[in-house]
Amino acid sequence: MAELLFREDPYLRACQATIVSVHEGAVELDRTVFYPLGGGQSGDTGRIGSWKVVDTRKGATPDSVLHILEPGSVPTVGQKVEIAVDWDRRHRLMRYHTALHLLGSVVKAPVTGGRINDDKAHLDFDIEMEKLVKDAIEARLNELTSTSIETQARWITDAELDARPDLVRTMSVAPPRGEGRVRLLEIPGVDLQACGGTHVKNTAEIGKLAVARIRSEGKRNKRVTLVFA
Ligand SMILES: [Zn+2]
Repeated sequence: MAELLFREDPYLRACQATIVSVHEGAVELDRTVFYPLGGGQSGDTGRIGSWKVVDTRKGATPDSVLHILEPGSVPTVGQKVEIAVDWDRRHRLMRYHTALHLLGSVVKAPVTGGRINDDKAHLDFDIEMEKLVKDAIEARLNELTSTSIETQARWITDAELDARPDLVRTMSVAPPRGEGRVRLLEIPGVDLQACGGTHVKNTAEIGKLAVARIRSEGKRNKRVTLVFA
């Protein structure tokens, strides 16, 4: 069981850790600041000791994280290492991730999918195309990012979540379970949902947003893609 430090403090960029296992091209640590691909958010990149981490994925158990190293790395179990995420990239992912929570509240429709990269992010909605008006969405998003709203994370039990299905907005991206508790992300007055990703502290930190495009990706998938303006 690794200690997942990004959950309590997504702003933690680096720490000391010990390598607890080595798989083909990947290591597990006793603690980590690296977010593994999940909930639509890309896995972190960065460094473990002198090696480059090219991607981060979930391991076999809910708390295990596989740090995928560049080819040629030769880590050994028990080794103490300095680890650090590529912070510029991670911070963009946090800003885009939080922006999608805003988008999900601006567009009143079921969310059927989503993806967060460091240069753009999108949500898919089950909605008619004509109801997605680019200028209106953009204007409302920028109202929210120019208003400084503190985001809040807290934990509830799996049972509490089961009793509140309304807290799961994204049909295709279930919140991480299996540990008896899930995390809620609240943007007061805007959005409240179960989410295991990394978010910024304040909506103002997202900065100005633009709707890059609105496109149909199928009958129940109308995709709204955001970029930083
Ligand atoms: Zn989230």
